[in-house]
Amino acid sequence: MKIGVLGSGQLGQMMCLEAIPMGHEFFCFSPDGNSPSGKVGAKETVFPYDSLKQLETWIQNLDVLSFEFENIPKPTLDFLKNQKSISIFPPPESLVIAQDRYLEKSYVRKLGFRTAEFFHLTKETSKFEVSISYPWIIKTLRFGYDGKGQVRVQNETEYQSFLQSAFQTEGSEYLIEEVISFQKEISIILTRFQNGDIVCYGAVENEHKHHILDLSIFPARIPIGLNLEAIELASKLAESLSYVGTIGVEFFIKENQLYLNEFAPRPHNTGHYTQDCQSFSQFYLHVQAITGNNPPSDVRPKPTLMKNILGNSYSESLNIAKELLRDDRYRLHLYAKEEAKPGRKMGHMNFKGTLEEVNSLFHDL
Ligand code: ATP
Ligand code: MG
Repeated sequence: MKIGVLGSGQLGQMMCLEAIPMGHEFFCFSPDGNSPSGKVGAKETVFPYDSLKQLETWIQNLDVLSFEFENIPKPTLDFLKNQKSISIFPPPESLVIAQDRYLEKSYVRKLGFRTAEFFHLTKETSKFEVSISYPWIIKTLRFGYDGKGQVRVQNETEYQSFLQSAFQTEGSEYLIEEVISFQKEISIILTRFQNGDIVCYGAVENEHKHHILDLSIFPARIPIGLNLEAIELASKLAESLSYVGTIGVEFFIKENQLYLNEFAPRPHNTGHYTQDCQSFSQFYLHVQAITGNNPPSDVRPKPTLMKNILGNSYSESLNIAKELLRDDRYRLHLYAKEEAKPGRKMGHMNFKGTLEEVNSLFHDL
């Protein structure tokens, strides 16, 4: 089939690396040329996401359209909702919800999920009192990733000083959240197929450094009951969205209770371990789901760790990674990005084994 995705970064790259051996053709549409997806065989079309005329022409050549980037402008998503001539998975509405933190948290609250207390902060609502006890995290309403656009506010004085510059840019909006003092962060990566079947390997445990995902440990070291509950919640969310494809759902665990943090309507960084877990990767499953195939019947993922490689001291990290590759349980995935900037995700390493087996070198990456 001819698969098109909006976005052309590393997630598209890893989808493309699965799609081509399955006999598909892969196309990407984004403002960036010479992209990670283009470098592995995706045919690039380079236009801004709001170029509706070009988008309309582009999709005429496709059998199915998907996404690898969630911050597609809303008018483009609205335009896609009205395109009846092409299958689009997941439904564009799931991106509309996920890209607005207020809509997202309100949506999952309506489904009955527990979340941090939150307040939608705009120029207008900033006049009102916020009945959430400190400390808070204030997040930009849209376009945040890797903890960008987040500030911690400890008390009223800090809030007042935040407000002084908060609305300098016209139309700025935020979400104020209660800080959850969690014991662990986990995520559920699941793939929902067109017949409603779901494939999920269970929770993965995540550690962040400087607000960026650093390490994922599969399986998560949490009680089985909590694991099953997280799978059930993520499945309920996917069903409510009529979702098809791979979705990542992030939770905090505090006092044995799950708080949904956010969801990503696409394969997720914390699911990269699946590439080397000796079962099917989240990208393979995504491609199978959006192209109308049935889920695989024999799914047996093994314990696997994933370590992100960032642009910070990139050449030193690569030296360590290459050293580790002498052991064939390690695998290196690089995204072929043009430039290594601090905080930029450049690649990751997977280890087929448990945390206990990993030597300290892995932590130095
Ligand atoms: P990413 O792209 O990495 O998922 P993001 O910028 O979309 O990040 P979040 O996932 O909401 O933002 O937050 C990033 C991290 O900040 C979380 O994984 C968690 O460690 C911390 N964090 C976010 N919200 C809260 C909260 N309400 N209480 C405690 N910690 C939080
Ligand atoms: Mg997150």
